[in-house]
Amino acid sequence: MTPQQKIEILQTLIHIKSVNAHETDVADYLASLFAPYPQAQIEKVPFAPGRDNLVVTIGNPAGPQLGLSGHMDVVAAGDETAWTHPPFGGEIVDGRLFGRGASDMKSGLAAIVITMLEFLEQGTSLAGSLRLLATVGEETGEYGAATLTDAGYADHLAGAEPSGLDQVVYTARGVIDYKVVSTGVASHSAQPENGVNAIDNLMKFYNAVGPLMAKYTKTDPVLGGLLHNVDLISGGEQVNSIPAHAELMANMRTIPAYPNQIIYDELEALIDRLNQEPGVQLELSYSYPEEAILGDPQAPLVRLAKQISDDVCQHETQIVGSGGANDGAEFLRAKADFTSIEIGPGSDTSHQVDEYIELDDYLQAIAFYETLVPAFFAQIGQSSKRQ
Ligand SMILES: [Zn+2]
Repeated sequence: MTPQQKIEILQTLIHIKSVNAHETDVADYLASLFAPYPQAQIEKVPFAPGRDNLVVTIGNPAGPQLGLSGHMDVVAAGDETAWTHPPFGGEIVDGRLFGRGASDMKSGLAAIVITMLEFLEQGTSLAGSLRLLATVGEETGEYGAATLTDAGYADHLAGAEPSGLDQVVYTARGVIDYKVVSTGVASHSAQPENGVNAIDNLMKFYNAVGPLMAKYTKTDPVLGGLLHNVDLISGGEQVNSIPAHAELMANMRTIPAYPNQIIYDELEALIDRLNQEPGVQLELSYSYPEEAILGDPQAPLVRLAKQISDDVCQHETQIVGSGGANDGAEFLRAKADFTSIEIGPGSDTSHQVDEYIELDDYLQAIAFYETLVPAFFAQIGQSSKRQ
């Protein structure tokens, strides 16, 4: 494939508005690229209408397995008039390609797809099975990865999130987003004894939860400490009515020292305790929590990714942790003995206006993955022979 063809694939992906939905349009386009190769097994794994994950498998099914993952959704463009280059235009100026997803992460997705297409085109014989895991809904909860994990698609995994090629992410924070709904009884504020103030009761939770989470003082040497923030709060109808409804939402960033279950137990015990008080009616729910990824900086896949990125890109690659959760956490659920890394092309403009990718970085990422895959299979093959 020529560099121009590789760039056109990325531009086509940018043109598809897969903003927190419509990933099937991306999946269909990617599937069409693999269609000329009968040896590629193409499967769509539905999550919801219009939201299909795509799984493409090539190589030797009897050998070791490596997954290459990327998400097909992007975050909203926001105020499109604030963009100098239209968010779905894929314009190229001075070696930079602009558009929503240029960094996070249609360039990474295109890089792993093109890696596989070039193996097919060149008839490269792979010692193992290489699997594209193109997911839906990463930006809002990794539920595509959850669907694929439940369907049994997880293996060793290299994700192409925009770490920049000079960083390999091997450990990541987890996430717990939770919501507390307080239900009271409305009454005229002149007769508060006839009502139950839902805001007052929600505040009991709010005041207790901060000190409770502050007890978790362990810090991870790479990721830092546990983070807990109440980020949304609402309640009440009007100023002369006792409020019957109030709610808050909080975001937690967890670390491997504290598995999510510890936090769930703590939150649920607090809710139960408060619900014993007269009139208090609080309800707790979670949306798409993710476990932190412990990871091992010495794992073969981590070391290999660093070494190859150093060689291919002529820079010093750092082995780092990530403050954000990613699909790797979801895939990790499936296996105990499992390494997950993230390394992919990107710039510091992800989720921003005038998001872009340097075309040189994008093309280098393809070269990186094309070197990593056979090297990984060779290394895994050797270590299994030694055993
Ligand atoms: Zn991303």
